Amino acid sequence: MTVGRFAPSPSGRIHLGNIFCCLLAWLSARKKGGKIVLRIEDLDTARCPRRYAEQMIADLRWLGLDWDEGPEAGGKAGPYFQSRRTALYQAALEKLEARNLVYPCFCTRAELHAASAPHREDGRTVYAGACRELTAAEQAERAKRRPPALRLRVDDKDYCFTDGHMGGYGENLERDCGDFLLRRSDGVFAYQLAVVVDDAAMGVTEVVRGADLLSSTPRQLYLYRLLGLTPPEFIHLPLLLAPDGRRLSKRDADAGLDRLQGRVTAEELLGKLAWLAGFHPSGKPSPAAGLLEEFSWEKVPREDICLPEKLFE
Ligand code: GLU
Repeated sequence: MTVGRFAPSPSGRIHLGNIFCCLLAWLSARKKGGKIVLRIEDLDTARCPRRYAEQMIADLRWLGLDWDEGPEAGGKAGPYFQSRRTALYQAALEKLEARNLVYPCFCTRAELHAASAPHREDGRTVYAGACRELTAAEQAERAKRRPPALRLRVDDKDYCFTDGHMGGYGENLERDCGDFLLRRSDGVFAYQLAVVVDDAAMGVTEVVRGADLLSSTPRQLYLYRLLGLTPPEFIHLPLLLAPDGRRLSKRDADAGLDRLQGRVTAEELLGKLAWLAGFHPSGKPSPAAGLLEEFSWEKVPREDICLPEKLFE
């Protein structure tokens, strides 16, 4: 049975990009008769206060995008808030530590920036490994000044997969990424670790998410392998961009649901998003279930999609 999921980070009001992703995740799983898990990715509780999560749940309800397991629905794999799952992340971390793959990193942001790590075209930097070979004595000395973050050692291997929508993608983790964070210096677990632990624990078989996370997938595949877990299928969808081609932000007039609700109905919104996704040529208002028949990944473009100046009259 297909198990899809919504995994929003409630760091603000839901916007068109999140809704687009949830709609396609919902259609993709439902079309196969599958179910949906809702998991609230509020690891960083300072940025994701509880009221935002509650608003997000209410917004998904308003949109009519339902879920079978998650907040309010219950389920065996709960809790469904990442902020309440730290014991599971800690257990996974300990497994990796037992294999000597984790080390403390004392680098400050400025040091990371200044290190002569190659900067990739996409703006990502490759961790140069400044803390990789510190002795125990050096670690103890530095720990007096600053609590460390924790990094995972990567290997000189290619992690490749065939994305369900974007085709083949792979990275050599040593060359393209470097040792990556598992836990920040303030104790917050990293997204990469949490998402793998949770998708596996919740039985997710199909991950539908924005193409901005395509390049996270090799790191996640590495974690699946180290933790002895089976990876899901990954399906990355194009990003929705502002009319001028910038990344969508909460400042964009039509992007936030706060500005849209009251002006348009949920059916109007879903109809327009399905039109942008290329499988609903009329753009007519429709509830999510009304789009199931027309939906097909083949019709969805692979390039990012610019929102028109005026999505609604
Ligand atoms: N929580 C992430 C976000 O809202 C999504 C993570 C994922 O789908 O893997 O961008």
